[in-house]
Amino acid sequence: MRDDNCIFCKIANGEIPSKTIYEDERFRVILDLGPATKGHALILPKDHYADLFALPEETAAEAMKLAKKLGAQMKEKLGADGFNLVQNNGECAGQTVFHFHLHLIPRFKEDGQKIGWKPGKPSQEELEEIRAAICDE
Ligand code: AMP
Ligand code: ZN
Repeated sequence: MRDDNCIFCKIANGEIPSKTIYEDERFRVILDLGPATKGHALILPKDHYADLFALPEETAAEAMKLAKKLGAQMKEKLGADGFNLVQNNGECAGQTVFHFHLHLIPRFKEDGQKIGWKPGKPSQEELEEIRAAICDE
């Protein structure tokens, strides 16, 4: 379950060196080379899955468990005041590497970063239309 052209396959499986903060049989967790904040890390499954929708449920659950564990470790060791989990799927959503990864982003007061969106102002009717479309009812 590897893709020979995928850089995260090579990193996750140790063919390209990385600053690894955690490794087990199924995952490697590395420091991001273009970090949003100090400690910004990426959880990488060792097998290749393009995105969340390709990921087996069990692997998705394991990734979230790891995020909780390593997030707590980073908060403690780096003195983070908060934490963002970010996970992009698809080019229009900001995904640039098409091997599933979960961003662990420790946050510090006045770190100067902003991870967010411009809030819309939908009417109740618009919300109901969207709800019905998603739920198929
Ligand atoms: P995304 O935009 O969600 O696909 O995130 C890709 C992330 O991978 C970005 O934050 C990059 O800085 C990071 N990145 C790309 N190449 C490497 C690499 N060789 N080692 C570590 N991080 C990388
Ligand atoms: Zn890959």
